[in-house]
Amino acid sequence: MMENFVFPGLTTRVVFGSGTMARAEEEVRRLGHDKVLVLSTPHQKADAEKLATSLGSLSAGIFAGAVMHTPVNVTEEAVEAFRASGASAVVSLGGGSTTGLGKAIALRTGADQVVIPTTYAGSEMTDILGETAGGEKTTRRSPDIRPETVIYDVDLTLSLPVGLTVTSAMNAIAHAMEAFYAPDRNPVIVLMCRDALAAFRDGIPKLIEDPHDRTARAEALYAAWCCSTALGYVQMALHHKLAHVFGGSLDTPHAETHAILLPYTTAFNEAAVPELLAPIADAFGGGSAGGGIWDFARSVGSPLSLKAIGIEEADLDRATAIAVRNAYANPRPIDPGSIRELLQAAWEGRRPG
Ligand code: NAD
Repeated sequence: MMENFVFPGLTTRVVFGSGTMARAEEEVRRLGHDKVLVLSTPHQKADAEKLATSLGSLSAGIFAGAVMHTPVNVTEEAVEAFRASGASAVVSLGGGSTTGLGKAIALRTGADQVVIPTTYAGSEMTDILGETAGGEKTTRRSPDIRPETVIYDVDLTLSLPVGLTVTSAMNAIAHAMEAFYAPDRNPVIVLMCRDALAAFRDGIPKLIEDPHDRTARAEALYAAWCCSTALGYVQMALHHKLAHVFGGSLDTPHAETHAILLPYTTAFNEAAVPELLAPIADAFGGGSAGGGIWDFARSVGSPLSLKAIGIEEADLDRATAIAVRNAYANPRPIDPGSIRELLQAAWEGRRPG
């Protein structure tokens, strides 16, 4: 039976294709700006310089200092550079770290944002900003955080290393997984998420064979857009909470952390809502959603245990304590004992279910 739903109809403009970075100037002007600051990580500074050159007189310079988990001290430095540059908007070229910095600047200055994503992390379509200070990550949502325009350019993802291609796709799949049981889900988002699972399942093995396969890259970037849209439309729960606990408090790499936790958080909630997670079991096989994702992760060489990324067994108690500190919506009730068990399985890398 069709459930009742609300479809909020959000307003981010999306340009998708190959060679679309060339449309950045037109998109900035469309928003009414004549000076923009280009943002990137140090690693992608050369691409940022190329973009700034193509923007000509629109470019007010580059800030190439974005780092993972949006530390507040970096944001303060970037806000100073933004104000000094005379820009009224930012163009964020990169993965979630660069998008996060652009959002943090926008929140503090009212700047408009054009985002050009180069990973599958999916920050671009959301009104969510996670920031770190004093060893803890806090997350907030606000309409002022949501980017105005997103330009997906398949060509920019050709250089994404295979390892990050895989873990970033798993990161995106995690948005779809939690969207399937989100209390505010709607049928359009569920459709997009189903399509994204199929596109990643088919596209990622092709990209392991040939990272420059443009058709598979387009499929994967389309899937990333679907998952990012899901993240921007509906509430997330236990999985994202745990990923933030590890990223914010133990400084683990974002995409790998999502990739490792995903089979375990899926299996945990599958015990409560198997019918809502059936699209995952349908997409990946394996007899269960949690088991199916674990099998897929193993087949594409995704990291399988928290141990493998340097987490000590003793850290699991601290992570559990932080994860259960505040209440949040989750289809299965959360208690310290069951979360500690979930984390133990994820630390060891045991196949769930
Ligand atoms: P990232 O942005 O840190 O990128 C990882 C590294 O890969 C960087 O050095 C980057 O420069 C490089 N890189 C990116 N794209 C590349 C490409 N195409 N070719 C070569 N190198 C490339 O990592 P990420 O996983 O994309 O993002 C993680 C961050 O995003 C975290 O801080 C996370 O909290 C945040 N995030 C936020 C949201 C949200 O809605 N607020 C959603 C998802 C992720």
